[in-house]
Amino acid sequence: MAQDIKEVSLEQLEGKLLGLGTQKYYARQIFDWIYQKGIFDFNAMSNLPAGLRKQLAQEFYILNLGVVDLQISRDKTAKFLLQLPDGNSIEAVNIPTAKRVTGCISSQVGCKYACKFCASGLGGFKRNLTSGEMLDEVLYLKNNSAVIPLTHIVFMGTGEPLDNYDAVLKVIRVLNSPQGFNIGARRITISTCGIIPGMKKLQGEDLQFELSISLHAADDKIRTQLMPVNKQYPLRELVFACAEYIAKTNRQITFEYILIKNLNSDLVAAKKLVELLRNLRLAKVNLIPANFIPEFKLAAASPEEISRFQKYLFESGVNVTLRQERGQDIAAACGQLRLKHGKA
Ligand code: SF4
Repeated sequence: MAQDIKEVSLEQLEGKLLGLGTQKYYARQIFDWIYQKGIFDFNAMSNLPAGLRKQLAQEFYILNLGVVDLQISRDKTAKFLLQLPDGNSIEAVNIPTAKRVTGCISSQVGCKYACKFCASGLGGFKRNLTSGEMLDEVLYLKNNSAVIPLTHIVFMGTGEPLDNYDAVLKVIRVLNSPQGFNIGARRITISTCGIIPGMKKLQGEDLQFELSISLHAADDKIRTQLMPVNKQYPLRELVFACAEYIAKTNRQITFEYILIKNLNSDLVAAKKLVELLRNLRLAKVNLIPANFIPEFKLAAASPEEISRFQKYLFESGVNVTLRQERGQDIAAACGQLRLKHGKA
């Protein structure tokens, strides 16, 4: 049975070509056609011998996801709902700013963690995406990046990337490879809800990437209320695992923190956050004004509350940033477009 060629690494493709009785260096040309030039047809790969193009078409296909819906925000954030071969759909988003375009990709269809601020978890988990499907999300975003070329990739769409570990790492190798997308490892971010075994595995990888953790509360009771996964991996264990990760990799961890009114945005919560992160040598907090999702009855903290929270962290010596919300007018929060199409 033919296989999606995007699920094959460069080394595997070289081996396959040798097995087909041809030169392995064609593998680099094939990667260049797919990932640099965005070509989805072996016949169009004009520098390959005609016989090889025919053989490739028998052994492989090049998955090309169709688009079901597209929304473009006033700030040019573009959200795509992409159709998978099995009828499921996933979201991928291009977020442009003056100097960069960040592609936000999904790693699973649905999500089992049911965080209380995220539309992705509403319909539960369906399945992991293959590496080929994730790479096709990136290709789609690259080919539809209207302003400047795609510069960054974040695994912050639907799904928990560390629960689809092997496929996600396979994708990162292609993103990073000069024969693939050639995106510097420091421009690739894995975002996790705090899956400790996955974080431990990441420490041993010979790859560089940024790690971001959805924290959203520095109090176990509130975090469990927002993120049921906290029961499995409570804050004390999570912070201990973060300290270990920093010690082993010497890399900074970014903690994402959504500010929600009457829940986690007052000065008591800010103080707890400072205490929680006090002993982490390389940590940054990224504050996020909450997105309103009608299915959840959570209200965004006011601009004054956000500013007070940020000031307290800054004055306590925490490296803190405030995320500029993008795509507010197009339901850009994770899972909302899929939800609109009744796929959650
Ligand atoms: S925030 Fe992440 S882990 Fe939580 S439900 Fe959404 S996709 Fe899943």
